[in-house]
Amino acid sequence: MTVERYLAPRDLDEALEVLRSGDATILAGGTDVMPQSESGKTPLRKTLVNIRRVPELTGIMLAKNEVRIGALTTISEMMANDLIRKHFPILVEAGDHFASEQIRNAATLGGNVCNASPAGDTLVPMLALDAVVELAAKPNGTVQTHTTPLGSFLVGPGKTRRGPGELLVAIRIPVPPAGQVQRFFKFGTRPALDISAIAIGLAAVKAKGVLSHVRLAYGAVAPVPMRGAQAEAVLEGKKLAPEVIERAAQAAHDEVKPISDVRASDWYRRELMHNMVKRMLADVQEH
Ligand SMILES: Cc1cc2nc3c(=O)[nH]c(=O)nc-3n(C[C@H](O)[C@H](O)[C@H](O)COP(=O)(O)OP(=O)(O)OC[C@H]3O[C@@H](n4cnc5c(N)ncnc54)[C@H](O)[C@@H]3O)c2cc1C
Repeated sequence: MTVERYLAPRDLDEALEVLRSGDATILAGGTDVMPQSESGKTPLRKTLVNIRRVPELTGIMLAKNEVRIGALTTISEMMANDLIRKHFPILVEAGDHFASEQIRNAATLGGNVCNASPAGDTLVPMLALDAVVELAAKPNGTVQTHTTPLGSFLVGPGKTRRGPGELLVAIRIPVPPAGQVQRFFKFGTRPALDISAIAIGLAAVKAKGVLSHVRLAYGAVAPVPMRGAQAEAVLEGKKLAPEVIERAAQAAHDEVKPISDVRASDWYRRELMHNMVKRMLADVQEH
């Protein structure tokens, strides 16, 4: 389909009004939209809506006990931001493994979420951090917003629960509890500029060697980035002894549902899960 209209709304109200009419492609950084339309995977719709001028989708701020990250925040902005660096080093680490500097300067967090790739690199840390997404629509003339946990927003490769006419406005992440440790690991077949073969995110409170509030998230090992409920259960309330670490690593190996593709076989992904969860937990135990 050829694009018949290009629109660049200047505020949220105008953007949502445009989206009410349906049949529109939302364009943020374009690092997924453009290659996917060029390759024919996802053709552009009749109306192309560039949301980059919408001020309500920008900025990173502390509000009550959470950090609100505007959907248009680029990976580079996220990595340089003081609030993110202070509270969510795991996101900075993920940014460091994300594509190249040129892509990081254009790619937005909102685009990474809405593209819903099983290998989306910010999704793994954000799942481990209990992120929720804030969505807005204008169904009957007034702007309405609601939030939903990131884990339930993602439903399959390239599929989310975003309703017609809705925009992802922001991602909200609770300020971490005292003593929280965070870790991120990404494995690709090349050292740089590679999409994850697996990714792991960990957030947990460590006190006197005991872990609590354990959140483990895995990327590229299931149709959507997933929480490791079984490994979390092994770790919750436990001291990080070698046998506990081994049981958690085995649980991670068993609970993922990887496929074989050009980046890795399902067997190799499971082995990586086991070995890297083990290494990550040993590191947490030591430091
Ligand atoms: C060379 C290259 C390397 C890459 N490497 C990585 C990598 O290492 N890790 C990784 O995770 N990704 C990678 N990507 C994928 C891509 O850069 C990211 O997914 C990026 O975050 C997408 O953001 P964007 O702003 O460019 O989104 P866009 O391409 O503008 O949009 C992506 C999708 O989200 C929708 N969308 C965007 N914003 C909103 C919003 N606010 N509300 C509703 N819908 C919205 C769009 O309609 C589209 O469907 C790479 C891409 C390229 C081209």
